[in-house]
This record gives sequence, structure tokens and C-alpha cells, in this order.
Amino acid sequence: CGIVGAVSTRNIVPLLVQGLQRLEYRGYDSCGVAVHRMVAGSPISQGLQRARSTARVAELLEQVTTDDLQGLTGIAHTRWATHGEPAVRNAHPHFSYGPGETVDGGKPARVALVHNGIIENYEALRAELQAKGYIFASQTDTEVVCHLVDSLYDGDLFEAVKAARGQLHGAYAIAVMHKDEPHRVVGGRAGSPLVLGVGQDNSEFFLASDAMAVAGVTDQIVYLEEGDLVDLQPGRYWISNKSGHAVLPEQRPVKTVH
Ligand code: GLU
Repeated sequence: CGIVGAVSTRNIVPLLVQGLQRLEYRGYDSCGVAVHRMVAGSPISQGLQRARSTARVAELLEQVTTDDLQGLTGIAHTRWATHGEPAVRNAHPHFSYGPGETVDGGKPARVALVHNGIIENYEALRAELQAKGYIFASQTDTEVVCHLVDSLYDGDLFEAVKAARGQLHGAYAIAVMHKDEPHRVVGGRAGSPLVLGVGQDNSEFFLASDAMAVAGVTDQIVYLEEGDLVDLQPGRYWISNKSGHAVLPEQRPVKTVH
């Protein structure tokens, strides 16, 4: 139902949760956040970690506070279930641990993903991914995208998401992270809204379902178009269009919203 994502040089967990609170008006049955976890005093990512809840965003905030979840890069979601009942295991962000692996295997999560909308061909994709050894932890259509990105990943998250997009049918928006790229969020828009927020000094960037979600941190918004993919890293962003071509800054101008 709602997406928020951020890359920054400061802890963005409070901003992500605040963004979810600003999206609560849309309605939701569960919510969650995932970050490249940072611990005080170390610049090194401790890996992808998430918190999910079927209660209110306020409860999620308590969880992330108790867990001391902090990070410079993260994605968050409010879910309005379409495939799979409202339950923690179906709440986003979804993780892929790679073929043959589950959360219980003790291996680090490789891909984290949030999704709005519906993947029409998820059953066929799930069968293909299961044949490759992927083990599904949820009943969602979303989880196929997560494993699909993992299966296509070869060192560059943007390229993996681009390749995955070619196999997806439906109306959706996504935001994705990979464990090996702790300062990167890749987003895609195809039938569901997604905007880019340009933060302080170009040092931080946000992704969101609508500008309202990031109104607390920036009024500088780039409206993405159908089929756009966006690559966020601290200090730079990059957009490609539905044909896979680079988009010039003047083609997606930064607008001030009030
Ligand atoms: N189809 C996805 C699900 O059921 C996403 C729903 C949404 O847009 O919140 O989990």
C-alpha cells in the first residue's frame, strides 16, 4: 500500500517510521522496515535486519527502539494485503536468503524488498524459482520478486532489478536493497505511484509512494514516470526509463511541493 525508502549519511530509521506514519491515512493491515544495520561506533553494515508488525506503526516504532535498529540505508512499507492474509510472515520487507536457504539456516539475508500492487504472473514465477531451489516463507505475490532479484544478481543491484522487471507482469512499485551494497536502494515504478525526494545538500535521497511521506524531510520531489527505474546512493541518483535508457535531469525536473 505504501513505500518509503532512504539512503543517507545519518540514521534514517526515525525518518522511515515517520514516513510510514504519514502514509497511515491510506489504510494498512501490517507494516515493516528493513535496514543495513549499523551499530554505534562502526561504519560497517552488520547485514540486513528487519522489524515487522501487524499492529500500528506506533508499535513498529517501539520494536525498532527496543531492538536499537539503526542504519543509513533502508526501506519501509505499509501493507494492504492482496495475496496472503495479514500476518507477520506476509508483511514486508520480504527477504531472500538465496536458493535452499531460509531464515532458520543462519545465513545472512541477501535481498530485501517492499512492494505495492500486484504481480499477475507470480504463480508461474514461483514455480520457476522453486525449481531453482528457492524456499518461500510467505503466501505473497511479492516474495517472488525478492527471490527473482536474488536469482538475477551478479554484483549490481540496478542491473538485477532491471532484468527482473522484464519478467514481471502487473501494476506495481518496488524498492530493493542487497546485502553487498549497503549504500544503495533501487526502486521501480510500473502502474503504482513512486516519487523521489531529494534531501539535504543532495547527500540523502528518498523514495516514496507519495510526496506526503517525505514532507517532514524534503519538499524537493522528482515525479517518476511509468517504467522508470531509480538508483539511489548517497550523493547521487540515476533514473532510467522504460526502454532502459538514461533519463536526463531536465526530463524529470526536481519540483518544490508545498
Ligand atoms: N500484493 C502485495 C501483498 O499482498 C502488496 C500489497 C500492497 O500494495 O500493500 O503483500
